[in-house]
Amino acid sequence: MKAHSPSLICSTIIAATIALSPPSSPGRTAINHSLADSVVWIQFGIDWVMVDSLLTHKLETARFLFRYSDNFRHAKELQSQTSSYDAYCDTVSRILELPTASFKTNVYLYADSIEQSQCFKGWPALREGQAFSFVREIHANGLGALEHETVHVLVNDLIAYASSAFFAEGIAHYVECIRSDDVLQKSIRIAKKVLSEPWDEWANDSIGFWSTGQIESIIVTYPVSGLFVNYLIQRSGLRTFKEFYRRIRTEKSAEVAFPIVYGHPLSKAISEFKTTIASW
Ligand SMILES: [Zn+2]
Repeated sequence: MKAHSPSLICSTIIAATIALSPPSSPGRTAINHSLADSVVWIQFGIDWVMVDSLLTHKLETARFLFRYSDNFRHAKELQSQTSSYDAYCDTVSRILELPTASFKTNVYLYADSIEQSQCFKGWPALREGQAFSFVREIHANGLGALEHETVHVLVNDLIAYASSAFFAEGIAHYVECIRSDDVLQKSIRIAKKVLSEPWDEWANDSIGFWSTGQIESIIVTYPVSGLFVNYLIQRSGLRTFKEFYRRIRTEKSAEVAFPIVYGHPLSKAISEFKTTIASW
């Protein structure tokens, strides 16, 4: 599958910060790691009986088990490019220097938001897609967000479960920037338009990741976070960034973890990063 369009990168609404308990019963309980990493239990109310009755088609690859219904319009596209999704896992592993994933991800593909809402009782529409931690699940409408969500699943398992929306989305967007110069250039263009915004409050998650507004059909925190991850990796290396990413979880805060790993405050790094972007 080709790199999905930048507008689809902003498709996740809660993405990697959500995790479900094992698929045992209808309406299973979910765990949500909030920005402060406090654990909040939420009743998702996924109707697994409905899911099983609707998404009857299965397509299995080395790394994925896809499920979809008769109404899924992209079935042929999915069938013709299934091997590319396995290859994409290898691409992500290469970019982020991760071990090869040895697990399978369950992917629930809904024909549209109506079908999805039939399966998700009492939960807001997913828009394009959502990755669920711990159970290695992706739920998506169509195929557009699949690659983006796959990065979340791999990062969650092979680096650390996300504890910061800014850095979880940042690393996913960073992968897109590495794979596509168009995405990179668009990200720089958008970041330069929002230089007056409080990026330090975005980076420490005190302002909601998805509340920052859109430019060119993308929520502006995606390009800024992706470019900041790129900036950190260019300056101090991928290994150090991954150490920081793990520390976000153990320290329960990006702001606390940052100086432990990088030796200076997150706000100082953001300020220098902003100066760099402004000079481009
Ligand atoms: Zn995401």
